[in-house]
Amino acid sequence: LWEIDPAKHRPGLVVHGAGWPLSEHGATGGSFLYHLDDRQVVVGLIADLNYANPYLSPFEEFQRFKRQSEIRKYLDGGKRLCYGARAITKGGFNSLPKQSFPGGLLLGCDAGTLNFAKIKGIHTAMKSGMLAAETVAAALQAGDQGRSDLVGYAAAFRESWLYSELHQARNFGPALHKFGTFLGGAFNWIQHNLCGGRMFFTLKDRSSDHGQLAPASRFQPIEYERPDGKLTFDRLSSVFMSNTAHEEEQPVHLQLLDSSKAIAINYREYASPEQRYCPAGVYEIVEEEAGPRLQINASNCLHCKTCDIKDPTQNIRWVAPEGGGGPNYPNM
Ligand code: SF4
Repeated sequence: LWEIDPAKHRPGLVVHGAGWPLSEHGATGGSFLYHLDDRQVVVGLIADLNYANPYLSPFEEFQRFKRQSEIRKYLDGGKRLCYGARAITKGGFNSLPKQSFPGGLLLGCDAGTLNFAKIKGIHTAMKSGMLAAETVAAALQAGDQGRSDLVGYAAAFRESWLYSELHQARNFGPALHKFGTFLGGAFNWIQHNLCGGRMFFTLKDRSSDHGQLAPASRFQPIEYERPDGKLTFDRLSSVFMSNTAHEEEQPVHLQLLDSSKAIAINYREYASPEQRYCPAGVYEIVEEEAGPRLQINASNCLHCKTCDIKDPTQNIRWVAPEGGGGPNYPNM
């Protein structure tokens, strides 16, 4: 979140991008820059977590992105106000789970109702909440005592515009994953503009994000430019701007199921990718006389859940920290 020069501020302006800079390292993703009120601008990069190169750093790619002339023309002379990171549940229609269970309903981004083709999820999350409220009200009127599996929600969801909207956008993400930014983008343009989303087939991407990471031996380390402290920044000063805080002396909320894998597999085969995919510098390899050791700086955690998704050995158990800690984002 930035505060920019009032002469450059265009309230309501939306700038979306696709591909660059991630495409230079064989990855896909998109970007956004939104002009809010009060001279404020939100700028961000969305990195698809199915990338292969363990040397890729989404945080550093975001710093590169800000150097692009169409982006930096707004940010130059401005001031960084806040920083945050979050894994987006963007599997869409093809990834929706069963949304009801005894005593509860799974809604909004917890279920994955984001329309990623539009990078919009508030209207769909609100609709899922409205459908849930109607389902619960109908159950109460029918004398339900609670703890039931309100399977009627699925039928209400199926008949709503929310289902139709997500169904029409179902091929967007898989097309980009299967065909890349340009061919996938062309496919999406045809699907959206010429066919209105009414394709008779459904593309599916059944691969897991962590399973796509390839051994480091297949790549050269990526040299990222040093931050200039004006437009680009380092990770730790950025984490400071997220106002993240955790109760002292609580059990570490990021636990390794098998601590030996951190060095035996992650370090030796994948060059410890957690040092780079974590946007908060939580995972750090400390070289000691006895050999390398993984240090987990859990108090820096932004709760983005990337490590839970991208760890190649799925060795990280993410438990909720005590005391309601975590980032505190103003206006984000
Ligand atoms: S430790 Fe995991 S959840 Fe926390 S900021 Fe890093 S990647 Fe995100």
